[in-house]
Amino acid sequence: MSKEITSRAEDYSQWYNDLVLKGGLADYSAVRGCMVIKPYGFALWENMRDQLDRMFKETGHVNAYFPLFIPKSFLSKEAAHVEGFAKECAVVTHYRLKNDPNGGGVVVDPEAKLEEELIVRPTSETIIWNTYKDWIQSYRDLPILVNQWANVVRWEMRTRLFLRTAEFLWQEGHTAHATREEAITETRKMLDVYAEFVEEYMAVPVIRGVKSESERFAGAEDTYCIEALMQDGKALQAGTSHFLGQNFAKAFDVKFLTKENKLEYVWATSWGVSTRLIGALVMAHSDDQGLILPPKIAPLQVVVVPIYKGDEQKALITEKVNGIMQALKKMGISVKYDDSDNSRPGWKFAEYEMKGVPVRIAIGARDLENNVVEIARRDTKEKTSVSMEGLPEYVKNLLDEIQQNMFNKAKAYRDSHITKVDDWAGFERLLDEKGGFLAAHWDGTAETEEAIKEKTKATIRCIPLGNEAEEGKCILTGKPSTQRVLFARAY
Ligand code: AMP
Repeated sequence: MSKEITSRAEDYSQWYNDLVLKGGLADYSAVRGCMVIKPYGFALWENMRDQLDRMFKETGHVNAYFPLFIPKSFLSKEAAHVEGFAKECAVVTHYRLKNDPNGGGVVVDPEAKLEEELIVRPTSETIIWNTYKDWIQSYRDLPILVNQWANVVRWEMRTRLFLRTAEFLWQEGHTAHATREEAITETRKMLDVYAEFVEEYMAVPVIRGVKSESERFAGAEDTYCIEALMQDGKALQAGTSHFLGQNFAKAFDVKFLTKENKLEYVWATSWGVSTRLIGALVMAHSDDQGLILPPKIAPLQVVVVPIYKGDEQKALITEKVNGIMQALKKMGISVKYDDSDNSRPGWKFAEYEMKGVPVRIAIGARDLENNVVEIARRDTKEKTSVSMEGLPEYVKNLLDEIQQNMFNKAKAYRDSHITKVDDWAGFERLLDEKGGFLAAHWDGTAETEEAIKEKTKATIRCIPLGNEAEEGKCILTGKPSTQRVLFARAY
């Protein structure tokens, strides 16, 4: 079989690439750092997107769309913002090609130079706040709760399928508020929406926290995040929600008339999750046989494979399967009958295991006689013989159980990989030997954070919300500290 997967123990990184490529989620493309999302991967993204979209709408948000291009001058209006993004911007300078009169093929037409260069959006705060200036005059125009589904471009130097690509798909929420408190409430609310989505639908447990100053979004006053743990003990930032203060309102001169008839700058938030979440899903759950997808967002929840000799047997099985399929579909379960003659059942089993389909039903001539089917669950690989009576209910319960089991398993791993540590030697040793999150004291300075990163490649993933105050000494400098923060090596 050409579908051999590198094992996690042998090479975790290669295992991940094998799963993404052979599981049919994505391919490399002709453009460095950009990937092709294949139909199976896109179906997964659509399920994630649709659920998130429902949750955004339930919390009062509406969708809109802003241009792909941002005038260069816009990006420069907020000093920290441009500083943060300048190094990874794609810039459009011309709008026309022409045939080279010297036979050199198609070349850029030097006469078609743009008067003002355009940036391909790395994020849309600037173009959106330039627009909000026209939308907001008084307190009656607030709040604005807008989300956009889009692609963005960040010219990343070190890319990895889904986790870090030069172009990626995401949603970006951009809200405008009359008060600081309201904007902070919104920032926190969307963090909770992300946490709920990732835990309940993706079955990946997350830690909610605040970023340290050096990891903060360029232009934000505070960046909140959810952090997840992958099976190799490395952390992954799975989503961010930013409190932007009045920074963008000041940069774009967006003021509103308060109820008291005073002119004030508007308060802002922005928040986003991207196709990186697909990478998180793969890395958090899958095994050496392939993907393991949580039922709530799997593109296909159940596959039925017939085992037969000859057309007559096949016809009898198919007749029975048609009834099962109808009943499952009625319950809102997505199901496929793979009766193709091109491959043997064993090959099909391996293929659907690779693709992470949560439940496989196999049915042969003898099963038909005994009125049973064989059910295999992807998460534990257990196989059970199940009566056809009440099969739809059985499958529905099993899907719920798989979803819960996947979360429990990932949470048990995550919880056993949060370690308190109070000495530097132990800190370095734990990072190498165990990985995961290290809860350690930090003196609160960017210099110490940078020094720790230099020495160990570990960064402060977040200062967890609800962290208890605790007197201690910084893990590196020994200076006083008031709380533990979470360090980890991260993607
Ligand atoms: P940010 O605007 O930097 O806060 O990022 C918003 C979201 O996009 C976060 O959830 C990031 O994890 C994700 N993200 C940032 N850069 C990339 C990238 N190069 N590829 C995929 N996702 C990304």
